[in-house]
Amino acid sequence: MSVVSQVVSSLTGSHHEYDLVVVGSGFAGSMTTLNFLEECKKIGKRGKVALIEAGKEGERCGASRWTMAYLRLDKDNKFDTDWKHEMKRVSEGLADQEYCAKMEQEVPITAQYLLDHGVKLNHHDEKNVLLEFNTSQHFVFPEGGGHAIINALFDHIRKFDNVTIMWQTQAEQLLTHDDGRVCGVRVRKADGHMTKVHGKKVMLACGGFEGNREMLGKYVGPRTEHLELIAPGLKYNTGFGLKMGLECELVDTRAKKPDAVIWGHNYGIVVNEHCKRFYDEGKRHLFATFEMIALETWRDQNQKSYFVTDSAIMDRFRPGWVYDTTDQEPEKSDTIEGLAEKLGLDPKELKKTVDEFNAAINDKDFNLLALDGKRTHGLSPDKTNWANPINKPPYYGYPMKAQLTFTYGGLKCDLDSRVLATTGVPIPGLYCAGELSGLFYNECKFIPVPSSQTSVCRSTRINTLHMFSEKPIRRFTEAE
Ligand SMILES: Cc1cc2nc3c(=O)[nH]c(=O)nc-3n(C[C@H](O)[C@H](O)[C@H](O)COP(=O)(O)OP(=O)(O)OC[C@H]3O[C@@H](n4cnc5c(N)ncnc54)[C@H](O)[C@@H]3O)c2cc1C
Repeated sequence: MSVVSQVVSSLTGSHHEYDLVVVGSGFAGSMTTLNFLEECKKIGKRGKVALIEAGKEGERCGASRWTMAYLRLDKDNKFDTDWKHEMKRVSEGLADQEYCAKMEQEVPITAQYLLDHGVKLNHHDEKNVLLEFNTSQHFVFPEGGGHAIINALFDHIRKFDNVTIMWQTQAEQLLTHDDGRVCGVRVRKADGHMTKVHGKKVMLACGGFEGNREMLGKYVGPRTEHLELIAPGLKYNTGFGLKMGLECELVDTRAKKPDAVIWGHNYGIVVNEHCKRFYDEGKRHLFATFEMIALETWRDQNQKSYFVTDSAIMDRFRPGWVYDTTDQEPEKSDTIEGLAEKLGLDPKELKKTVDEFNAAINDKDFNLLALDGKRTHGLSPDKTNWANPINKPPYYGYPMKAQLTFTYGGLKCDLDSRVLATTGVPIPGLYCAGELSGLFYNECKFIPVPSSQTSVCRSTRINTLHMFSEKPIRRFTEAE
């Protein structure tokens, strides 16, 4: 896959040259910058870094500063060993297994790196939701979310005087020597003027293309204009670096805050604006299905869906992360008809759907921590697990719509983060990391993939290691 935009040839005149130019200051860009500065210090080199960021200083630009950053880590901060198998399964063999294995190896080292740099990781044992991770019902998230990670990394970056942070500076083109070596970027400054930032190596860490409507339309398809961004910082991610696919999530339409995801569709029913169910809510565990049901809401259900459940579920889950990410209380009523009115649905139709659902359920035991086989028969679609009757008032509901969270695909790179040309050869001087680095590549048809809790992890310290040597450093960590 080629790098976006036209390259500019030959440099003339004297210029200030950096050892490394990093584009983007999310997890991937900040990790790269800090790692590089620290490694230079360790070996007594004064490597100069330019960190280029389109957003303003102090602004929560990009995705990393908005995410809760849920991570599939166990108690010892080891990465879920099943994730690579899941990637293989859902991509029908297309996901790069070497990349996944490398990530599994690097993530614990990166987690330790974050701890060493003042990030606090919260460990959570989940008692209700079947995670289906190989982490013993455990996951991890940083205290203060992704914003806290970036702040911690920046506290350290600012201690170096050999880094220049260029805010409100948008990279627009790569610069190359005539021999094809990448040697910087052309940027547009806040005053609208263009200038060149020269560097021996360039790391592209500028996220996905959530903020580029044209690319969304081209690579994802029609009606992407109906997908709002889940967080405002995504507007800066305009796809400098490319390409294709997306992940969206169901959020509370009433919420005043970003990232108001309603996770627990598994434990009730989800209907469309005509009160019809349209998705097997119990098909698999939460993280294997939340992207797909959001996609269907956007693509096939006019961007409107409604989660309906009863107090048997809500009493168990609230307070907690499953339903409390929104800043609004759920709609509530002692009758299904009353709930329908509050949700703006037809009371008779919703009652009919709930009654039919309840009547179609088998008599297996309801077990939140297993694919319990408690299911309906004869509905279209059936709910194949966790089909507990909705019969214990008060009843609860949330109106939902899909919002765009991140994009898939991107530049193909090797295990040392070197960007590969379409021939498979590394482009000298060019690296990529984070969401922009490809995992499925352009062969993969557009499907949402249950890769939640992985996107953040694609910003490991591996990204900088190769920069000290032209040789691959795949075994660098073992040699340490
Ligand atoms: C609300 C939300 C919740 C999420 N939840 C999770 C989760 O729980 N677990 C998980 O693993 N992932 C999650 N994700 C996805 C994850 O946060 C991102 O994939 C990850 O943070 C991407 O990091 P990044 O450094 O590659 O990109 P970003 O953090 O997006 O950083 C890219 C930076 O580049 C800048 N930029 C863009 N273009 C240019 C340009 N041309 N020139 C200069 N600068 C530019 C942007 O302003 C931005 O600061 C979530 C995302 C969101 C938005």
